[in-house]
Amino acid sequence: MNSFDVIIIGGGPTGLSTAITITKNSELKPVVLEEHSEIGNPLACGEGISRDKLLTLENMPRISQDDYSTELKLQKKHSFIEREIAYQRFFFGKSGVATSHLNTVTIDRPEFDRQIAKEAEENGATIKLNSQVIGITRNAQQLEISTQKEKYIAPFVIGCDGPSAHSVKMMDLSPPKEYVQGVECKIDGVHTDALDFYFNFEKFPKMHYGWVFPKRRHTNVGVVTDTASKPRKILNEFIDYLENPNLKESEIFKEIAGIIPASGPIPKRYCDNYLVAGDAAGMTNSIFYGGIAIGIHTGMLAGEMAIKAHEAQRFDEDFLSEYQTRMDSFPYSDPVIQEAHKIIYSKFSPADLDTFGSLLNGWDITEISNFQKIILLLKALKKPSNLRRINEVRTVAYGFSKSRDWGF
Ligand SMILES: Cc1cc2nc3c(=O)[nH]c(=O)nc-3n(C[C@H](O)[C@H](O)[C@H](O)COP(=O)(O)OP(=O)(O)OC[C@H]3O[C@@H](n4cnc5c(N)ncnc54)[C@H](O)[C@@H]3O)c2cc1C
Repeated sequence: MNSFDVIIIGGGPTGLSTAITITKNSELKPVVLEEHSEIGNPLACGEGISRDKLLTLENMPRISQDDYSTELKLQKKHSFIEREIAYQRFFFGKSGVATSHLNTVTIDRPEFDRQIAKEAEENGATIKLNSQVIGITRNAQQLEISTQKEKYIAPFVIGCDGPSAHSVKMMDLSPPKEYVQGVECKIDGVHTDALDFYFNFEKFPKMHYGWVFPKRRHTNVGVVTDTASKPRKILNEFIDYLENPNLKESEIFKEIAGIIPASGPIPKRYCDNYLVAGDAAGMTNSIFYGGIAIGIHTGMLAGEMAIKAHEAQRFDEDFLSEYQTRMDSFPYSDPVIQEAHKIIYSKFSPADLDTFGSLLNGWDITEISNFQKIILLLKALKKPSNLRRINEVRTVAYGFSKSRDWGF
């Protein structure tokens, strides 16, 4: 039996971030159990992230502000940065295009994950590959973890096992209720200079949105759909819809697909001897479905709680409940994001989306000023049917402002 202070299930950004926090701030010995034979492979990701979060969140792969002085310098030094992008475009059917100016970056996600893993190992964490967790049982005051090959024991376990949330189910907590699926192809050549998001509920009733993200030498084109649809077929139709002959004729050299939790934070993210973080806890931005930055941050919170629990020798759920209270104080947990998600993807009809697009057409929505709000109201008042939707539009705008820095 292998004994550790903390067992972390899953070697994605959340689990690796948890390991870094623990090893940097304590003498505790954590082990990360990862089912695959390498970190960062396989994985599915659009690879877009907020530059602010990349620079300011603890446990992100290290970059200093100076490294941003020239893009070239940055690219040479840090191979996980692919491209800096100064703006986003939101296409609403044929009715309008809005922009925002958030500094974002596209990354080489496998390399990004490998760099976090390197930092965790350099700080003293043990990473065990080919170690799929298949069972968790209670053994006195500890949890016993079984992989196909070995058994591990620890007083504290952190589930960072991604969207399928197996450990959450093993601990009898409620996993995410709702998922979407994402499918993406990587296409030769750079076919845009913005992060582009396409919404069209009339042409694509099952598609939440389509994305076109530029990388250093290629473009990621993908769609998020509900789980009952055939996403690969929708992606083909989406590529046709883009009407970009260069894109259409370029070679697709890789395809990826995965699921993303879409129902917001699971109701309970702790129990005796156990916490859950990242995708496994439902912690994604359910407007755009990004989760890297939230995973890194909730992993950090889980790591801090593990240290506190060890110091106090308290692993009971009363003591651990503070973890969820802290997590709920950050903007990514705000229920308005989930409300906005429901309005956009369940309530908005194609006609509502058209109205939304025509109201915002030509606007920069990075920060909507009070003056713009008045203009928006006046524009909306021109059509009595818009009034019905004005509160919803406000909720969507508020949800967007809360969630926008926390992933794409
Ligand atoms: C198509 C797609 C596009 C996306 N695009 C973006 C984007 O552009 N920007 C963004 O911010 N986010 C994006 N996301 C979401 C992002 O990828 C996730 O939110 C992020 O990876 C969550 O990190 P995590 O560590 O919690 O989970 P994961 O990255 O899923 O890591 C979980 C790890 O646990 C391992 N594991 C699972 N079960 C077990 C087990 N039983 N035993 C041992 N190991 C196990 C897995 O192998 C995996 O390595 C996208 C997701 C998809 C599917």
